[in-house]
Amino acid sequence: MRTGRPSATGRTECQAVKLTEHQAKQLLAARGVPVPAGRLVTSAAAARSAAAELGGRVAVKAQIRSGGRGKAGGVVVVDDPTGAFEAADRLLGSTLNDETVVEVLVEEAVDIAAETYLSVMIDPSAGRPLLMRSEQGGVEIESMTETIERTVIPAAGFEPADEFTAAIVDAFAGLDALLVEINPLAVTPAGERIALDAKVELDDSASYRQDHPPEPADQGTERERAATAQGLRLIELGGDIAVLANGAGLTMATMDAIVHEGGAPANFLEIGGDAYTKATPALELVLSQPGVRSLLVNFCGAFARCDVMTAGVVEAWRKLSPGIPVDFSISGTGQDEARRMVRELGYEPHETMEGAVKAAVAAAAGNGGTGGDQR
Ligand code: GDP
Ligand code: MN
Repeated sequence: MRTGRPSATGRTECQAVKLTEHQAKQLLAARGVPVPAGRLVTSAAAARSAAAELGGRVAVKAQIRSGGRGKAGGVVVVDDPTGAFEAADRLLGSTLNDETVVEVLVEEAVDIAAETYLSVMIDPSAGRPLLMRSEQGGVEIESMTETIERTVIPAAGFEPADEFTAAIVDAFAGLDALLVEINPLAVTPAGERIALDAKVELDDSASYRQDHPPEPADQGTERERAATAQGLRLIELGGDIAVLANGAGLTMATMDAIVHEGGAPANFLEIGGDAYTKATPALELVLSQPGVRSLLVNFCGAFARCDVMTAGVVEAWRKLSPGIPVDFSISGTGQDEARRMVRELGYEPHETMEGAVKAAVAAAAGNGGTGGDQR
């Protein structure tokens, strides 16, 4: 999941992909970080079998992404499989910190001699990873910040204090992570270090060179999930004007302009960057949205080339031949060729974005839409 939904793109500015504890631990374990044995389950019965397999005494942990989970009752240590059944039964389907619990992680309980803290994140001023350690960790870490020791990791010659730290620092770099936080990093009575909890945020911009765990199946509408599966970012908004624009910024501006003209955008869909090669699935997705009455295509080329993006749309057009009014605004790099292609399709591109937006709003209203001002 992206960290919350602070913007219409469903991303934060830094494009962090916040993983669940289970996903985080899987990635870390694959890179040599010790984590407790565990099973991810979605039913109380499965939690009971998992506990039996893991030796009876287990921690049952709600897989929500917000902090303060332990304090909210989302972590329950139980002595036997029946306890695991009861804890999972209580947690599954409940709401903790505004999140519905759909998965719980059943983990072998760890005997804790000490709870310490370890994290790595990017220090923006140094432009380097920052390692933070404390001999005191756990759910009260916020009140213990003065105990944290900070070390900027140099480009060369860094000497980790121990194997655990080395594994975390390597994992941070290898995963293109924005954050790896282990709290608590438990020390067992035998002196072994083990990641009892893990928070990992990945850099979405680096996902092309990473094999990230899939998003949970329960997020978004069916069409939004289909978009995600095709590498597109779609958010259905319920209006009647479908929008196809390049880049998140232009798409936001286009939606604002539509609303300003009294219209209602049907979607946020980003097809910028190299996503123009996905014009066919992108158009299929927006045109299949119920209640769509007109389509606005708005391309603004700088580094991105309008002619290349338009070629993708033209190809999609030939396959889908949409039966609704369409308005084009195309300006910037490659605009002459792009406009020529649009004319070949039988449409006259608008001179300005404002003109195209006004026409799309009027077209939606004329095509049976409500169109705000023209009600
Ligand atoms: P969160 O940080 O609140 O999301 O949850 P954590 O996973 O960090 O767990 C919160 C607290 O529960 C930890 O600080 C531990 O004190 C306790 N806890 C979690 N797992 C275990 C376990 O396996 N054994 C024991 N004894 N305590 C645990
Ligand atoms: Mn924790």
